[in-house]
Amino acid sequence: MSVLKDYLACLDRYLMIAPRTCHMPKAHPASPTGTALLPLSLTFQTQCLSETMPAKQDPILIIGAGTFGLSTAYHLAQAGYTSITLLEKGDSIPSPLSAGNDINKIVRAEYEDPFYAELALAAISEWTTNPLFTPYFRQVGYLLGNSSAAPEKSRLSLARSLASIESHPSFAGGQITPITSRDDIRRVAPALDGPMAGWTGYFNRLAGYARAADALRALHTAVSSTVEINLGDAVTALKYDDDGGGTTRCIGAVTASGKAYTASTVILTLGASLPRLLPSIGPQITAKSWSIVHIQLTPSEAEHLAGIPVTYSRDLGFFFEPDQTTGLLKLSPSGAGYTNYTNHGGGGGYDDDKFSVPPDVRPGVIPAVDEEAIRKILKEHLPSLADRPFVDKKICWCADTADSEYVIDFVPGADGLIVASGDSGHAFKMLPLIGGWVMKVVESGEQAIEQWRWKKEQIKHDDVSWRVGKVRDLSEVM
Ligand SMILES: Cc1cc2nc3c(=O)[nH]c(=O)nc-3n(C[C@H](O)[C@H](O)[C@H](O)COP(=O)(O)OP(=O)(O)OC[C@H]3O[C@@H](n4cnc5c(N)ncnc54)[C@H](O)[C@@H]3O)c2cc1C
Repeated sequence: MSVLKDYLACLDRYLMIAPRTCHMPKAHPASPTGTALLPLSLTFQTQCLSETMPAKQDPILIIGAGTFGLSTAYHLAQAGYTSITLLEKGDSIPSPLSAGNDINKIVRAEYEDPFYAELALAAISEWTTNPLFTPYFRQVGYLLGNSSAAPEKSRLSLARSLASIESHPSFAGGQITPITSRDDIRRVAPALDGPMAGWTGYFNRLAGYARAADALRALHTAVSSTVEINLGDAVTALKYDDDGGGTTRCIGAVTASGKAYTASTVILTLGASLPRLLPSIGPQITAKSWSIVHIQLTPSEAEHLAGIPVTYSRDLGFFFEPDQTTGLLKLSPSGAGYTNYTNHGGGGGYDDDKFSVPPDVRPGVIPAVDEEAIRKILKEHLPSLADRPFVDKKICWCADTADSEYVIDFVPGADGLIVASGDSGHAFKMLPLIGGWVMKVVESGEQAIEQWRWKKEQIKHDDVSWRVGKVRDLSEVM
């Protein structure tokens, strides 16, 4: 009945529009082709059905094979979509440019907003039960707290996050242990032998970390037989079809090498680089970055620290159990993030002539102030490693929104174009679920979750409630 209703509504709309030809794809249109002109009679049915839900064989183009992109490809392929193409600028997966390309990422459910706490619990359920993800999850627990010098903002944020989970039924039965003394720390993490004087917080057993790069590799393998994946060729522009009657439709993309891809649905999952391709997202997304370093441990040092919880001193920074294969210990300092404001000349729906996007070249250096901050983390928690050389230093970029909400929605004024971004530095844990959320938007033709809608007016500010410190531009510190 509802298909018939949609069909009639569509027919209504069709009758109001002057006859025209439509740009629609060829048989496997998301592979490089020119645009095919098909007679309207042929395109009509496809268009009407895809008003609410695309047909399974309709071509779908996903741009950016990072966390959001791979998860989206996976969910669409699982649901039976047969013509999915994934385009990635980096020449491997995980892409060297992906924020998810890291040995590990924290997986925890505490959030200031209970909405995300529920989503994260659903994600943890996938990490612990779905055979695709379980090999990449380590439920070592999460030791979260503040040093004695932490600012009030950091303490309040911790209290709000804890409130989102402590009375939740999933945490009943001793999943959370308050930490109020040095002895409490020793009981849950004996290998941490630094002073940690006055450190208070809690230990959450229902958390841990994902072996992030490995999980992305697994998703890549899972989709490689059903999804066409093209690496090492950046998308440089989107293709639009203006029907002359006031409707603009996104019909594909072109790449740096000159290939053109055509599709009926185009999904942008470019993370922090999104404003480069879609400047109109500029008021909503600011690329921000944080430093990451590693220390190469000896096998016996790695063995000694095996099984330590993910430890996050909110005002200082965090570190993980050493990687079980390489013995690398990963650390990252706290902070409000670094921007990289770049001139883009205005236009494209964003009048400000500057926006923050990741730099084209990513040198393997980090700000000196972050090296000092990481040495401080080590002195507090693992002093015997405090003077070790840092290896594999990098700056990792995410797409930050002012309210830390994701943006998963159709782009106003461009039919067939969807953005899935605004990760705000907290989306890797959602890897098993993200693609399902994107697919819902693709199929329903709208975003039902208000927080994730495209926001016409987004007040830009840098005071994100759960971050400490001040946002600075990279040019100030490097
Ligand atoms: C320092 C740091 C620590 C983090 N820690 C955690 C954590 O502990 N837990 C957690 O849950 N989350 C964490 N995150 C957040 C998490 O990594 C991100 O939320 C997530 O990876 C974002 O996914 P994405 O797909 O939006 O972006 P990305 O993974 O960056 O993917 C974007 C992709 O688009 C590609 N691309 C860019 N431009 C183009 C183009 N023109 N053409 C084609 N492809 C292009 C890129 O190469 C990349 O592969 C952290 C982020 C940072 C920066």
